[in-house]
Amino acid sequence: MLRTHTCGELRLSDQGRKVTLSGWVQRSRDLGGMTFVDLRDRYGITQLVFNMETNAELCERARKLGREFVIQAEGTVEERSNKNPNMPTGDVEIIVDRFVILNESKLPPFTIEDETDGGEELRMKYRYLDLRRNPVRKNLELRHRMSIETRKYLDSVNFIEIETPYLIKSTPEGARDFVVPSRMNQGQFYALPQSPQTFKQLLMVAGYDRYYQIVKCFRDEDLRADRQPEFTQIDCEMAFVTQDDVLNTFEGLAKHLFKVIKGLEVEDFPRISYDDAMKYYGSDKPDIRFGMKFVELNDLIKGSGFKVFEDAELVAGINAEGCGEYSRKQLDALTDFVKKPQVGAKGLVYVKYNPDGSFKSSVDKFFDQDALKKWADAFNAKPGDLMLILAGDIIATRTALNVLRIEMGNRLGLRDPNVYKPLWVVDFPLLEWDEETRRFYAMHHPFTSPKTEDIPLLDTDPGKVRANAYDMVINGVEIGGGSIRIHNRELQKKMFSVLGFSDEEAQDQFGFLMNAFEYGAPPHGGIAYGFDRWTAVFGGQESIRDFIAFPKNNAGRDVMIDSPSRISEEQLKELGIRLVDKRGNKDQ
Ligand code: ASP
Repeated sequence: MLRTHTCGELRLSDQGRKVTLSGWVQRSRDLGGMTFVDLRDRYGITQLVFNMETNAELCERARKLGREFVIQAEGTVEERSNKNPNMPTGDVEIIVDRFVILNESKLPPFTIEDETDGGEELRMKYRYLDLRRNPVRKNLELRHRMSIETRKYLDSVNFIEIETPYLIKSTPEGARDFVVPSRMNQGQFYALPQSPQTFKQLLMVAGYDRYYQIVKCFRDEDLRADRQPEFTQIDCEMAFVTQDDVLNTFEGLAKHLFKVIKGLEVEDFPRISYDDAMKYYGSDKPDIRFGMKFVELNDLIKGSGFKVFEDAELVAGINAEGCGEYSRKQLDALTDFVKKPQVGAKGLVYVKYNPDGSFKSSVDKFFDQDALKKWADAFNAKPGDLMLILAGDIIATRTALNVLRIEMGNRLGLRDPNVYKPLWVVDFPLLEWDEETRRFYAMHHPFTSPKTEDIPLLDTDPGKVRANAYDMVINGVEIGGGSIRIHNRELQKKMFSVLGFSDEEAQDQFGFLMNAFEYGAPPHGGIAYGFDRWTAVFGGQESIRDFIAFPKNNAGRDVMIDSPSRISEEQLKELGIRLVDKRGNKDQ
C-alpha cells in the first residue's frame, strides 16, 4: 500500500516510528526555516515538517505544494513542541525525509474546510470536492452506521433483505411516476417504483414473513429541502401481525438506533390518535419536545357579542409561559406573523396574565376579568403567562395555530436539536376527500386496511372510516409510516371502487395483487422509513441533501453530471420515440 498509516491515527506513543502517509495537502505554511504541511485524508489531518537546515532541497519542493495536491510522504514521528489539543494527532508531527507528488491539483473553486466559502450550486457542481469536507463526510459516515445498525437489528429479529425490481409498472395512485421507455416493447414504458409496496405484500403471500430492504424509491414530485426525486427507504413488511406487533417491533428498531448511534435510552413512545394530534397540535406530526397544547375555548366565549369569536367554528389558543411581559411591539409583530399568507390567520387575540393576578387583553371590551380568569384556568396559565388565541374555520385555525406554536417554541428555545421525543400517531383516516376532483383518495395508500369496526361505514360515510395506519414522528418530522394491509380480495376490490376505479380498471392495474390474495394471503402489515430524513434528524439538520452523496438540486437536476439531458436522435429512434413540442409539432 502507498501508506503505512492513515492521517488520523498517529499518537505520541508512535514517537520515533518510520511511517509513510498519503493524502491531500490541506494547507502549507512557509515560516522561512521550516515549512509545515497539513496532510488530510478521510481519517484526519497530520502535520508534516520540512526543515530548511537539514534538507533544503526537499523543503524548497514542499514550499511549492498547492492546495489539494496528492502526495506520499515518508518520515519519522516526533513530538511537537507546539501541540494542538484540538486535533487527535495534535501531539505529533512527521519530520519528512522523502516525498513524491502522486498528483497535482488545480486550485479548488471553494475552500475545503469545515466552513466553506462555496455557494450551494458550486458545491453541488464539484460535489467530489465538497465530499472531502468534514461535515459532509461525517454525515455520510452517520448514514453508513445507521444502515449497518438497521441491518443488524432487523437481522437479529429474523427479517431477511430481499431485492425487488426497479423496472415496474406505472399506476395512477400516489405521486407521479418516473417512466422508462422500453426498446423491446415499443410504445410501452416501465415505471420506477415509488416504493416496493405491492412486491413486499406479494413476498408476504409467498411466505417470507419478515422482509426488509434498504431501497431507492422514485417520485416525480415538486421538490423542497427535505425531498429528493430519488430517495432511500428502510422498507419493511411482516405477516401474522396486528398493528401493535408492528409498532412494537419498529419501536425496537428506533430504540436500538437511538442507543447505538446517539447513546440515548428513550422511553416507550407515546401513541396518540390522529384526531388528538390535530386537536391538540394542529398537525399529524407534532413536535412534543414542548407542551403548549391547544386549548379550545368555544364553550367559554358564548354570548360575549364579540363577532369574530361568535361566528367562528373554532376558538383555540396556546399558553406561552413567561411571555406576559411582551411589549406592544412584540405583540404587533406576532400578529403580523400569524397574518402572513403562509400562516393565514385573520388576526390574533392575546391575554396577558399580569403578575398581580389581573388580566390585560386585546378583547377587554367584550370579556371582563372573571371571564378571562376562566380562560386562564382552561389554559392552566399562571401570572406572567401570555395566552394567544386564534379563531375561524377548524382546519385553518388549527393549521395557523400549529405554525404559531412552533414559532413560540423556537422563540422560547424549547426545540433543542439534542433532545429527541419520538411518538406514534395512529388511527389515521382511511380516505381523504379532494374538492377539486370530487373524489376520495387513500390517505396512506389503497392497500391500507380499514379498522374492522369501521368497514360498514365504507358504504354510508367513507370519510369517517379510520385506518390501521400509523406514522413514526421524531421532533415534528415524520420519519416513517405504514399500515396493516388488506389481504382479502373482496375488501380490496371494494376499496378500489370507493376510490372511483371501475372493476376493469382495478383488475387491469392491480389484478396481480388481487389474484395473489386468492392463494392464501396471510394477514400482514408493515412500515417504511425515509432513511435520508431519519439520518438528517439524527444529524440534527433539516435538509436531507447533505446526507446523500450525490443529491439533485431543487429543479431535480444533477448539476455535476448535468442530468437530465437530451439523448441522441438515434437513441430516440431505437426507442420509437418522437419528440413533439407543446403545440404538437415535431421537435427540431
Ligand atoms: N409503501 C409505503 C410508503 O412508501 C409505506 C408502507 O405502507 O409500508 O409510504
